[in-house]
Amino acid sequence: MALPPTPPTRQLVDDRTLKFLLSVDEGLETESVVIPMPHRTGRFSRTLCVSSQVGCAMGCTFCETGQMGLMRSLTVREIVQQLHVARFGLTHPFPDETRTPTGGFDITNIVFMGMGEPMDNLDAVLQAVRILCDMNGPAIGCSRVTISTVGRIEGIRRLGEFIQQHGFRRVGLAISLNAPNDEIRSSIMPINRSEPLAALRQAMTDFPKRPTSALCAEYVLIPGVNDRPEHADEVCQFLRGIRCSLNVIPYNPRRESPWPAPADETVDAFVARAIANGQFTKRRRTKGRTAMAACGQLGNERVRKRKFVDLSTPGP
Ligand code: SF4
Repeated sequence: MALPPTPPTRQLVDDRTLKFLLSVDEGLETESVVIPMPHRTGRFSRTLCVSSQVGCAMGCTFCETGQMGLMRSLTVREIVQQLHVARFGLTHPFPDETRTPTGGFDITNIVFMGMGEPMDNLDAVLQAVRILCDMNGPAIGCSRVTISTVGRIEGIRRLGEFIQQHGFRRVGLAISLNAPNDEIRSSIMPINRSEPLAALRQAMTDFPKRPTSALCAEYVLIPGVNDRPEHADEVCQFLRGIRCSLNVIPYNPRRESPWPAPADETVDAFVARAIANGQFTKRRRTKGRTAMAACGQLGNERVRKRKFVDLSTPGP
């Protein structure tokens, strides 16, 4: 891959999770997270959480990136470069782990869950997926690529068309659901006011599903907002009939957060209630919280509230 090596401006480590920042123009930075996936054998492989934008225009109230506003969308090159740097450009701080021949991380999975709403930069994201899955290039298996969205209906439809193409059928889609009903969802996710749950449910139903492809609903559990047992029942009712897993993510407090992290017992009780409803449900283990590398914590305090909302991508 003919990309120049770009050293990260910073690396932050929390246990075995590593966040790194890359400079882009105008003094802006992308943030990416290398997440460990331990195997029974004691080996680790790694998931790379990539950013598709610097900042985000969606303004979800629980998310650090949402407090920054959108600076700009990333180019294809800047998205792919995040993998290149993770594999070849980082100082590997874990001596007991498998490394690539160049000393970097053995990245096997990519999730578009870093900064930004991928569907607001979909042309670049899909072109990046083509490159990432190129067997003559980075060779990430397409079943190991997941694109996450806040619930952009048109983007979900376009991704549905994309995965009909040969070679991309197993690319995964994750929906940031986060609420059991429109009232709660609109209070924490402004997108729900223009694209409410009924439209989202229809888009999820219409999304082409295959036995081997994954559709996942993500649910950030926020104390006092969406964590009650009856909320679990409502979410399961919403998902009934859609072949989809529910991924419960304990809230990771952003800077100046009005909410704390939930208690473990609350998260476990919510998961148990969803399973009792017959919904396939998993709990995501928290990784990287103290390095502000956990889900919903990416973002640069210095540029918070600078809102440049040009969704265009600045050239190739
Ligand atoms: S949760 Fe995702 S879509 Fe919402 S503000 Fe954060 S990065 Fe944007």
